[in-house]
Amino acid sequence: MQLLLMGPPGAGKGTQAAELVKKFSIPQISTGDMFRAAVKEGTELGKKAEACMKTGALVPDEVTIGIVRERLAKDDCKGGFILDGFPRTVAQAEALTKILDELGMKLTRVLNIHVPAEELIERAVGRRICKKCGATYHVKFNPPKSAEACDNCGGELFQRADDNEATMKNRLGVYEDSTRPLIDYYKKAGVYTEIDGRQPIAKVTEELVRVLSAAQD
Ligand SMILES: [Zn+2]
Repeated sequence: MQLLLMGPPGAGKGTQAAELVKKFSIPQISTGDMFRAAVKEGTELGKKAEACMKTGALVPDEVTIGIVRERLAKDDCKGGFILDGFPRTVAQAEALTKILDELGMKLTRVLNIHVPAEELIERAVGRRICKKCGATYHVKFNPPKSAEACDNCGGELFQRADDNEATMKNRLGVYEDSTRPLIDYYKKAGVYTEIDGRQPIAKVTEELVRVLSAAQD
């Protein structure tokens, strides 16, 4: 089961990835983890990536793709994997197709957890976090008993600086523009499925599992 999980910031992709890891016993492979592991192992590519990250430069595509190739060739990926955060561009998607080809694999499904921008903005703007224990609330969907204090520990509730409409609109716009060509690429490849991320978390998981069970037959 070779999966690519997509979804805008705030759509619950991390939560769903964790569920799929448990359900199918396959590793989740995120770009950040891959880079950190390659740097730690001190591989040639890891050294190149580290040099870029130190200067704040963008890691070149051939380095990123090389790191992905090395990671996917490892034993724990033989039964499948969940890719998260790669590919980001059509060029990277084409490279991934080639890598998988070389490994005798292909993507089982590309799953996109879709939530409309207006709803993601509403979710973010209403989010309140406890300063003491980190519990999260939402003024509308999951309100604390008191507007100022945490139900768990009485800690002060605050709003993250980037949980505002302008920042979210900008982030979502950038995300949408960059993923549109990728979605088209995977639609053409016939492996793309969109999941309605407005449903409760457990329902989204259920639907993901249903789609994947059908894809395996
Ligand atoms: Zn608290």
